[in-house]
Amino acid sequence: MTTYFNNGTYLEKENMNVSIDDRGYYFGDGVYEVIRVYGGKLYTAEEHFTRFLQSAKKIRIDLPYSIQEFIQIAEKLASENEIQDGNVYIQVTRGVAPRMHNFPGEQIEPMITAYAIENLRPFTKLESGVAVKTVEDIRWLRCDIKSLNLLANVLAKQEAAEASCAEAVFVRDGIVTEGSSSNIFGVKDGILYTHPATNLILNGITRRVVLKSCALESIGVIEETFTLDELYKMDEVFLTSTTSEITPIISIDGREVGNGEPGRLTVRLQSVFEQTIKQLEQEIN
Ligand SMILES: *Cc1c(COP(=O)(O)O)cnc(C)c1O
Repeated sequence: MTTYFNNGTYLEKENMNVSIDDRGYYFGDGVYEVIRVYGGKLYTAEEHFTRFLQSAKKIRIDLPYSIQEFIQIAEKLASENEIQDGNVYIQVTRGVAPRMHNFPGEQIEPMITAYAIENLRPFTKLESGVAVKTVEDIRWLRCDIKSLNLLANVLAKQEAAEASCAEAVFVRDGIVTEGSSSNIFGVKDGILYTHPATNLILNGITRRVVLKSCALESIGVIEETFTLDELYKMDEVFLTSTTSEITPIISIDGREVGNGEPGRLTVRLQSVFEQTIKQLEQEIN
């Protein structure tokens, strides 16, 4: 049984239809979120849905549900589909209307679709680390919006995959911004560096979890831009995302990072992250 959410109703996948006139289909005119489920429980759901509402607002889509209502929808999808470790995917588009670029008018309601799917944690990558390739950041200037329009990200990820790399790292004017679907961190002399949360990156929820862990663990953080050259010289590098968690980066453009193994601070942050998951699983509700 696979239950999907479609504007207020729950349907089987076979009964889900996308209209040719959906603005997501024509223009990528919408925003989305991916939320992790651990042990049947949503992880940082409030943070994700807060960002979902913010992304929608930034592109002037009015959502008909509150954060708490979205959490209930996601919980229902996870439980009805008996998800233990997996993802909830949710997106909203500006709705279904004959193709024209400008907004279709007040009477057209947004189209919200969501589903939950079992997806194991990436244990091998978490332990061994991954290789990445840098690519030019050709995206627009509102990367703070989790937009459905992912053409530059798709092209970048494919270029990385063709070089046998797990992720593409965007570089804009010599500055490392973020991954195609992750945030990038470097460690130099025990200090953590990451691009500030400006319009040039998506401020990841996992990124925020890591920054919070650093504050609790008294690990120094500098949220300032750094160059590709500086990235190559970092002692440790890792990426973060909801599905990749904290994944060590052991090579960049074929050059080893540090000694080519996951770094010490990276492993320490992974174990702090692991504790936050365990805490979630012990919560009673
Ligand atoms: C979703 C995403 C991230 C990671 O955000 P999380 O909330 O940690 O999953 C980073 N960069 C981009 C471009 C993204 O789309």
